[in-house]
Amino acid sequence: MELHYDYIIVGAGCAGLGIAVRFSLDPFFKNKKILILEPEDKNKNNRTWSFWSREEKFYHGWAIKSWPKVIIKDDQQTIETEAHPHNYYTIRGIDYYSKCKEQIVTSKNITWKKELVSEVKNLAGFNHCICESGNEYLGQHIFDSRFPEKLKLDNSNFLWQHFKGWVIRSTSESFDEETALLMDFSIDQKNETRFFYVLPFSKKEALIEIAIFSEEVLSSKDFDKLIKAYIQENYPNLTFEIIEEEYNKIPMTDHVFSQPDSKYHYYIGGASGSVKSSSGYAFTRIQKQCEKIVHNCKEGKDIILESKDFAPGKYELLDATLLNVIVNERVSGKEIFMRLFAKNKASTIFDFLDEKSSIFQELKIMLSLPWIPFIKSFTEEIRKRLN
Ligand SMILES: Cc1cc2nc3c(=O)[nH]c(=O)nc-3n(C[C@H](O)[C@H](O)[C@H](O)COP(=O)(O)OP(=O)(O)OC[C@H]3O[C@@H](n4cnc5c(N)ncnc54)[C@H](O)[C@@H]3O)c2cc1C
Repeated sequence: MELHYDYIIVGAGCAGLGIAVRFSLDPFFKNKKILILEPEDKNKNNRTWSFWSREEKFYHGWAIKSWPKVIIKDDQQTIETEAHPHNYYTIRGIDYYSKCKEQIVTSKNITWKKELVSEVKNLAGFNHCICESGNEYLGQHIFDSRFPEKLKLDNSNFLWQHFKGWVIRSTSESFDEETALLMDFSIDQKNETRFFYVLPFSKKEALIEIAIFSEEVLSSKDFDKLIKAYIQENYPNLTFEIIEEEYNKIPMTDHVFSQPDSKYHYYIGGASGSVKSSSGYAFTRIQKQCEKIVHNCKEGKDIILESKDFAPGKYELLDATLLNVIVNERVSGKEIFMRLFAKNKASTIFDFLDEKSSIFQELKIMLSLPWIPFIKSFTEEIRKRLN
């Protein structure tokens, strides 16, 4: 049987396009046949990605804005701090999709087909992508972004991070462009973890968004009421229009995402467990995964993707511990994050969350948190792993 494609990418989202754009940028792949299967046109701004970084990457230029300073606050205190050597970035989904597409169309060896994949099957040693349309494509390697319909959570900790945001344009200059308000806990926590963030794209334009960590997901209408009240309290008399809205949810879990059984078929992005369980951030992790995949394809190395790639060794345990503390309401998210930022530089926390911290940084982080509840959760997590 003839092999139709060297690489098939199922889903042109953050991960799928992240791989495709790197294939396109690297001359090594110019003789490879590459296929993207995606049901959507990817011409809508369906999300904004925010993340910090201390490195220079090609996609940083696509950010609508970056900020050298961040603020964390609650009703008691405001911590304003330099993010240096990091910057905090926001990339609009639509800009990411368009920039990736602009690059990909320059590669004649990459084909994009509007298809919804219903199944990937290994038949006689070949991976077949079977689409709802009835079409079937064969690929040597399949990179698959389809998120599992149901997660079998077993013993894992789980919370939804659900959120709604408005991008607003005001008639007056109302925002400090230099500073991202990363977490504002000065709202009723309702025994959950609730915070607003305000990302000013200009003096007149900002994303004002609320995120909640909890088991139940709030309705869009209830979120609207909270955003309205927040704007009234913090920006009294602001006249504005809503330009865009974002309402969605992300699973926060230490569940181990497994890879498919068949050879050369790999789950990527969120489907491979890229979302950091303790924070819900995934964008940078996905970019690193894309780099690794493309590097290994080029070097002819085996592509082995595992949940633990994202949070190696001790970090997986520390993430699970932090989530366990929040799930079991031993310490509120508000207290944890306020303590962390009050006692550590932003860069130390970012390095820790990026799994790049030194022992010294980690000790400082541990010392800023209340010991007893963390030891309790840590012990529970160790016990789970030993059973
Ligand atoms: C609204 C929102 C905001 C987020 N904000 C942040 C943030 O600020 N910072 C951060 O670090 N992380 C954030 N995340 C988490 C994470 O970065 C994103 O979920 C990220 O988009 C995951 O990338 P992905 O490629 O796995 O999935 P997606 O980007 O969702 O892409 C999956 C693609 O697969 C396609 N697809 C689905 N089913 C099929 C099928 N059967 N056949 C073919 N194609 C299919 C979809 O149409 C889609 O294009 C956010 C998530 C959401 C939902």
